[in-house]
Amino acid sequence: MSGSRIYALDRVLVDQIAAGEVVERPASVVKELVENSIDAGATRIEILLEEGGLRRIEIRDDGEGMVREDLELAVTSHATSKLSTSQDLESVATLGFRGEALASIAAVSRLEIHTARSGEDGACMKVRYGKTQPIKPSAHPKGTRMIVEDLFSELPARLKFMKRPSAELARCSAWVERLALAHLGVGFSLSHEGRTLLEVAPDDDIEMRCAAIFGKGIAEDMVSVEADSAALTLRAWVAPPESARRDATRVHIFLNGRWVRDPRLLRAVREGVREFVPIGHYPTLVLQLSAPPDRIDVNVHPQ
Ligand code: ADP
Ligand code: MG
Repeated sequence: MSGSRIYALDRVLVDQIAAGEVVERPASVVKELVENSIDAGATRIEILLEEGGLRRIEIRDDGEGMVREDLELAVTSHATSKLSTSQDLESVATLGFRGEALASIAAVSRLEIHTARSGEDGACMKVRYGKTQPIKPSAHPKGTRMIVEDLFSELPARLKFMKRPSAELARCSAWVERLALAHLGVGFSLSHEGRTLLEVAPDDDIEMRCAAIFGKGIAEDMVSVEADSAALTLRAWVAPPESARRDATRVHIFLNGRWVRDPRLLRAVREGVREFVPIGHYPTLVLQLSAPPDRIDVNVHPQ
C-alpha cells in the first residue's frame, strides 16, 4: 500500500456514486421528474421518450417554474425548496424532499432545463455529466421542461445493467400509470418516439383513469369497497377475477397518495381475494390507504 494516500473524492464523482441510489434506470428518472412537476403544482405533464428513455427523456409541465437564481441550486445535492427544518420532516406533504434527484440525474446524463415563473423571463441551464454550463435566457412559458439525454452513456459499468429499450419503456410507463392513478387532478400524456401511449385529462375521476390504464372493459366491471378504522381509511377498486394475473403488475397500492410495494401488503391482498382469484394470481386492484401523516415514516428509503 505504499504511496497510496487518502483524498477527498471530487464532487462530480461523489454525485455519480450517490446517483446510483436514486437513479437506477430511465424509469427512476421519469418518476423523479414527474414527481417534481406534481410538487410544482402542474396541471398537465407531458412525457416524451426515445429508445425506452435511454436515449432521451423529456418532461414538460405547466407548474410554477423556477427563478433563474434557483436553477444552479436545483442541481446541487441536498438542495430542496421543500423542506427546511427537521420538524418539517414529520409532516412532509410533497413527494420529494431529499433534494437528491436532480443532482443525481445531472451527474449521470446530459441534462437541459428550461424554466420560467409566471410573468418572468425564462432561463435555460445545461449540465453535462455533472459539469454545469452558464445559465442563459430562454423564451419559455410558465413551467418547466427537462431534457435528459444519453443516461449513463459515459458510465459503461451502469449501462451494462440496462435492458432492451422495450423493457425500459415498460418500466417507464408503469411509473406514469402509478402517478396518474394517484394524482387525478393532473393530466398526463406519455409518448414513445411519437406514438401516444397514455393520455388522460386533468380532473379525471378514478373510473376514467382505470379505463385509460386497464382498458374500458375491465374498468366498467370494477367494484369499489370502502372501510374505516381509527388508524386507517381504505378505498379499493377491484376488477373481476378474469383479469387476474400471475404477477402483481396490476396491484396498485397507495399509502397517503404514494405508490408503495410491500411484501406484507401484497400477501394481505392475496389473502383478501383468495376465494375469488386462482391460486398464485393477483387481481387488478387499486387500493388507497390513508393514515395520519405522523403515523407514517416517510424517511424510510425509497427502495
Ligand atoms: P426534491 O424534489 O427532493 O426537492 P430534486 O432534486 O428532485 O429534490 O429537486 C430540487 C429542487 O428543484 C426542488 O426542490 C424544486 O425547488 C426544484 N424543481 C425541480 N423540478 C422542478 C419543476 N419541474 N418545477 C419547479 N421546480 C422544480
Ligand atoms: Mg424531487
